[in-house]
Amino acid sequence: MKNKTVRLRELNFSVTKTREQIAARVRQIGANLNLDYANKKPVFLAVLNGAYVFTADLVREFEGECEVAFVKLSSYAGKESTGDVATRIGLATSIKNRHVIITEDIVDTGNTMHKFLRELEEFEPASVEIAALLVKPDALLHDISVRYVGFNIPPDFVIGYGLDYDGLGRNLPDIYTLEE
Ligand code: 5GP
Repeated sequence: MKNKTVRLRELNFSVTKTREQIAARVRQIGANLNLDYANKKPVFLAVLNGAYVFTADLVREFEGECEVAFVKLSSYAGKESTGDVATRIGLATSIKNRHVIITEDIVDTGNTMHKFLRELEEFEPASVEIAALLVKPDALLHDISVRYVGFNIPPDFVIGYGLDYDGLGRNLPDIYTLEE
């Protein structure tokens, strides 16, 4: 494995999920989606910015017809969740009566998904499920059901595979955890 550790600004990070582990897991989730959403023409709703890499890989595992739409939400400043979720729905695609799969990079406190799920209801989708590459179960503050989970991880700060620290690290193919 190349580059087991990286330094971004003043912080050191070490690899916790390799690109091979991620690819294998994304393929498995894709296989589940192919079963669950065959002939349902789902709308994948990617939560920007962090989920762009996961979404790009996941939708290419989906074999049926689907649409891909994007929304931008934000609740993080630096390494801490602010708890204050600013929702900017940029939905150009109608999701009324559609089966929606939210693709999220990581569910941490769950504040973002909790708020967003309620907002989505107003658009009257046929169904809504969440596919999250990473979930931090010990940090969850809401009873949120994440139907498709890549990996459950400890409540530590991670970067790579779309996730950033202060704008950096999104391009890293592996996932790295902040070192103590
Ligand atoms: P939540 O609202 O569940 O606390 O946080 C959700 C959002 O916070 C994620 O979509 C992601 O953008 C950001 N986030 C949560 N944990 C991490 C992390 O460990 N690393 C990074 N880079 N972002 C995180």
